[in-house]
Amino acid sequence: MNSAIRVFKFGGASIRDAERIQNVASILQAYKGTRLLIVVSAMGKTTNALEKVVAAHAAQDGKAFELLNAVKTSHYQLLEQLFEPNDAIYATLNDTFVEIEWALEEEPHEDYDYMYDQIVSVGELASSRIVAAYLAKCDLPTHWLDARDVIRTDNLYRSAGILWDETMECMQRTAVADITEEQFVLTQGFIGSSSENFTTTLGREGSDYTAAIFSYCLDAKDMSIWKDVPGVLTADPRLFEQVSKLDRLSYKEAVEMTYYGAKVIHPKTIKPLQNKHIPLHVKSFIEPEGSGTLISNEVDDKYPPMVAIEHEQAVLYISTRDFSFVAEHHMGVLFNKIAKYRLQVNLMQNTAISFAICVNNVSDRIQRFVQDIEQEFKVTIEENLELITVRHYNQVTIDSLLLGKMVLLEGRTPQTIQLVVKDVPVMKRRV
Ligand code: ASP
Ligand code: MG
Repeated sequence: MNSAIRVFKFGGASIRDAERIQNVASILQAYKGTRLLIVVSAMGKTTNALEKVVAAHAAQDGKAFELLNAVKTSHYQLLEQLFEPNDAIYATLNDTFVEIEWALEEEPHEDYDYMYDQIVSVGELASSRIVAAYLAKCDLPTHWLDARDVIRTDNLYRSAGILWDETMECMQRTAVADITEEQFVLTQGFIGSSSENFTTTLGREGSDYTAAIFSYCLDAKDMSIWKDVPGVLTADPRLFEQVSKLDRLSYKEAVEMTYYGAKVIHPKTIKPLQNKHIPLHVKSFIEPEGSGTLISNEVDDKYPPMVAIEHEQAVLYISTRDFSFVAEHHMGVLFNKIAKYRLQVNLMQNTAISFAICVNNVSDRIQRFVQDIEQEFKVTIEENLELITVRHYNQVTIDSLLLGKMVLLEGRTPQTIQLVVKDVPVMKRRV
């Protein structure tokens, strides 16, 4: 019988330069002989750079090629550090970029999100080619898989939904047999393809989710996400001084924390793993021997306070124009519109005639939502807010988080407190 497959995901930071790619290869040496599927993101900040290419092309401001060339140059510079000048990877990479160039020579497509997916996906196509070729060179035979041949999605560009049955079937048919003890299979996170065979993407930071989809469909033994932190921490170390690593975490805790902005894992990652009880390890690529965090069906539920902060929040205060009670007839209408414009509601509260929601501030969506309900409802918007979520809170933690902040909305359950806050303006002393 074949041994079980393991799934690894390496994000952009872990492959951002030649040294880091070499580090990934050295980590993988220890897994020779393992049936391993490897998912990689685009290198470093490539996705952000490609988003700028898309925006420039849409605006027709003449900068798209220049921006693309900067992305290409950084990729070629990397090749020079990792490969001999006559290596076949140069031509492969060229072919990978050529498709965007064709797209840029045409008029911008009227569907921005469609165009975005066709262009931005090249980041992952390029990085996966490079890493696969480099592993092969390091005596780690690696088969490059086009994720679009197996990750089948609907055509909701930029946040495509997985067609699970088709994906499962494609994986069984094409991917499984290639993952052997003799060779790894390496593929792209974040991308898939629609039934019309157009490239789609799963939403920013979606590579973790891709790895979970593979894990689910391949009945993986476990999945590991390799990060630049030692594991899942109690808070973001860039924002807080005192953080500690959690050795174990239940799926439920992981979902709660990631949904509200703990940036360590994409929130959609957990569910497919939980459904099949596949353990998830979050490990450090800088210190690969470290124990990391194990996310699984854990029973012990003693946790320290865990803090997640989501920036770029907006609160919409929605009230009826005719002073009828919001809860009476209007909730259904509002929820429908919220779903229609895909607002992510992080907290809500209602009083007799008004309804407040805290949402991620995606301004074009909010604008269209407001325009749609304006006739019936008056909406005021407050922006530049932060949403603080604390699981297993205590008063000391809350007090320290609220220093210099003013609370606009609050939601509390025995496990979780959520606070929408803004900075208190510093009073100027009069002289
Ligand atoms: N490269 C994509 C992004 O930066 C996907 C990912 O990193 O997971 O959003
Ligand atoms: Mg990333």
